[in-house]
Amino acid sequence: MALVTKSIKGTLDLLPNESYKRQFVEHTCLEIAQNFGYKEIRTPVFEHTELFQRGVGDTTDVVQKEMYTFEDKGGRSITLRPEGTAGVVRSYLEHGLFNEPMPQKMCYITSCYRYEKPQAGRLREFHQFGIECLGSAHPSVDAEVISVAQNLFDFLGVKNLQLEINSIGCKECRKEYHKALQAYFESKKDELCGTCLGRLERNPMRILDCKSPVCSAIAKDAPKVTDYLCDDCQAHFDSVQGYLKAMGIDFKVNPTIVRGLDYYSRTVFEFVSTDIGAQGTVCGGGRYDGLVEEVGGNHTPALGFGMGIERLMLLMENQGTAFPEESKCELYIATMGEKANIQAAAMVNALRREGMFVEFDVVGRSVKAQMKYANKIGAKFTVVIGDSELESGIVKLKNMDSGEEQELSLATFESDILNITISESLKEFDKLDFSSIMGNIEI
Ligand code: ATP
Ligand code: MG
Repeated sequence: MALVTKSIKGTLDLLPNESYKRQFVEHTCLEIAQNFGYKEIRTPVFEHTELFQRGVGDTTDVVQKEMYTFEDKGGRSITLRPEGTAGVVRSYLEHGLFNEPMPQKMCYITSCYRYEKPQAGRLREFHQFGIECLGSAHPSVDAEVISVAQNLFDFLGVKNLQLEINSIGCKECRKEYHKALQAYFESKKDELCGTCLGRLERNPMRILDCKSPVCSAIAKDAPKVTDYLCDDCQAHFDSVQGYLKAMGIDFKVNPTIVRGLDYYSRTVFEFVSTDIGAQGTVCGGGRYDGLVEEVGGNHTPALGFGMGIERLMLLMENQGTAFPEESKCELYIATMGEKANIQAAAMVNALRREGMFVEFDVVGRSVKAQMKYANKIGAKFTVVIGDSELESGIVKLKNMDSGEEQELSLATFESDILNITISESLKEFDKLDFSSIMGNIEI
């Protein structure tokens, strides 16, 4: 019987004490993408299975082995999305976004589901930050997409990431290349794994992406796609490199990168780190000029990337990257007696409506226990209200860091405390060391 207090294998909980870090990272992802003109899109967590079979490609590991597919009560075959691109392309076609100004630039943070062997950096439910740009074949946009990821890493202060790029050409130049690959792998047929034997006929490039140690050893000496590029694809690849250099983005050409998904063409890239173990690819992407057509639209050059949020955060934790501090309770109003607690409820509500982080007693604790709680949650200021304070109309505001106390009138308490906390946060702001949270970005 399932143990209901244990989460499903390969899934993670994000706990309240950690969530501010994740919120910071996700917020930064979307903000940076938006500065580059990428607007958020949200699509459903499940789609028709066929969308992924066509959109991801039925010779891929994802479709062949990793999808969470089930039949719903209406007898439809449904799949939990294993990646973000196919759903975005479906939505683009369904809503006629091709009628909007081109290119259409979209971004998302989304959960993904893959039935894989769980290990560090490999989960069954994980999250991706992704961007997609539909409607441009120009090499400058390949560099732009890569620069979104590069800028994000720089802004977050993530180091030691190697950008590796490759071009896998177009359908035309791949014909010759497939023949060369087939001939090469044919000669090693006895050693290939069962899955790769199946790929030999239909899509020999997939063998280059196989995770089995034997296949990847054989793949090392296979013919290189870069030796088979047609003139147009070669010119495109050269131009992408020119744009990257102009933007000051370091890269290495790695002719063995082919990416796991079927729909890629021309530029493919990965950001790889050696700081998070075997699952070192934090971000992978490239061009998918054939995908929109595959899903049923007109020919539309397009590209994008997917970045694993959990891998990114693992990398940040391992590198000791600084996160901004979690927001703390600014004021705790401790009370003695029901009358004072009702007064506190009104004050707290008014201050919260002004955007202040304020707490009061909602448990019915003694004043001593309330102050202990205020300390535990790191409240910056406290005030105690009892019958005598209600009578005199004067309360003592205590700064919990310095221990300093000051008297405030209950009649003007709300505007006074707002002014005090604003001037406190201005002081804090002056003390902030931006270099630690803004990585390499100069301000
Ligand atoms: P890998 O080679 O590690 O299996 P992939 O080629 O399957 O990666 P993509 O489909 O390109 O990965 O997904 C983009 C990114 O999503 C990856 O670079 C990685 O950061 C993240 N990712 C992919 N699969 C998982 C997973 N099972 N758990 C956590 N993150 C993942
Ligand atoms: Mg994979």
